[in-house]
Amino acid sequence: MRIILIGPPGAGKGTQCQRLVEYLKVPHLSTGEMLRAAIRAGTPEGITAKEYMEHGQLVPDSLVLAMVTKRLETPDCRSGCLLDGFPRTLPQAEMLDDLLERRAMTVDGVIELAVPRDELIRRMLARKRADDNPEVFSKRIVSFETQTAPLLDYYARQGKLASIDGLGAADEIFGRVREAVEQFERRSAAPGGR
Ligand code: AMP
Repeated sequence: MRIILIGPPGAGKGTQCQRLVEYLKVPHLSTGEMLRAAIRAGTPEGITAKEYMEHGQLVPDSLVLAMVTKRLETPDCRSGCLLDGFPRTLPQAEMLDDLLERRAMTVDGVIELAVPRDELIRRMLARKRADDNPEVFSKRIVSFETQTAPLLDYYARQGKLASIDGLGAADEIFGRVREAVEQFERRSAAPGGR
């Protein structure tokens, strides 16, 4: 299974991704984590990315794509993966489709973790982590709404989107995530499915 999890900052994507990779037994591909590792290692990509990330902006598509392409080519990703934080823009989604198609692969399903904006702000204020600078956090929400939300339509048109309610206890939400995955599995097993 090749699955994408999409959600605004503070939606609880990290927790659900962790559970989902254990459940699916596939590698977890988090571009945010790859970028943070590049920053720690002081690579040229990390130095470029840091500027954008500190301002709550998305890093350039080309930089992220190069990283993801390399990672998708490693053998452990052949049978599937969970994409977390990628794609985040329409060009990234189109390039991902292209990349997979050339390797006779496809995205099996996309899960949207839906959480209203006022709840995201309430959680952020309650958490008050050092990296949750309210200004940067608001910019990340705006960047989600303007650059990432259009992807939901893109995948809905492909019939791949499952939107789930991101409110409630982590276990309860994971139950909904699992139902979405089962729906993807049934679809790929159906005649004409992939
Ligand atoms: P995350 O850990 O997914 O919330 O990502 C942290 C930050 O890394 C984001 O706010 C962006 O600045 C950057 N980032 C992560 N993934 C991407 C991506 N696919 N495209 C552009 N920027 C990204």
